[in-house]
Amino acid sequence: MQKLTREEKFMRAAIKAAKRGLAQGEVPIGAVVVYGDEVVARGYNRRAKLQLASAHAEMMAIDKACKKFHSWRLPEGCELYVTLEPCPMCMGASLNARVDKIYFGAYEQKGRSLTSELAEANLLNHKTEVFGGVLEKECAELLSGFFIAMRQKQKAEKEKEKNQEKK
Ligand SMILES: [Zn+2]
Repeated sequence: MQKLTREEKFMRAAIKAAKRGLAQGEVPIGAVVVYGDEVVARGYNRRAKLQLASAHAEMMAIDKACKKFHSWRLPEGCELYVTLEPCPMCMGASLNARVDKIYFGAYEQKGRSLTSELAEANLLNHKTEVFGGVLEKECAELLSGFFIAMRQKQKAEKEKEKNQEKK
């Protein structure tokens, strides 16, 4: 078996978190906060379940990490791993929590996430390094698989409705 790099190892943990969300019917996006060589917090998208616009995987993981360290400012060297390129809200939260490095898997398809702009903007006097494409294929397939399955389900439901109308 091929040995995983450090980045791949932690991205796998984020993928695992995403799958927990998937099992609950959420769009499968997962995140973990890493300090040293340890995962200190995990999160997955819970937007549907909580009906909260802010319930993104990164927010969940960052909140948990802050609680763990009893500090809004995460210790130096904290890294965030997330299966999808972070949105501006999550980039903002990462900067506020002083995350030092962000690794993401799949790229935001529409290229509108402002990830590098926000990382470079030096907001809050803090710069975050961002690296994309870690286990990109796996992360992207997890998402596309979810959307394909969702569309098929919707189609099947529509057909069912149509057939019932005919009766
Ligand atoms: Zn987000």
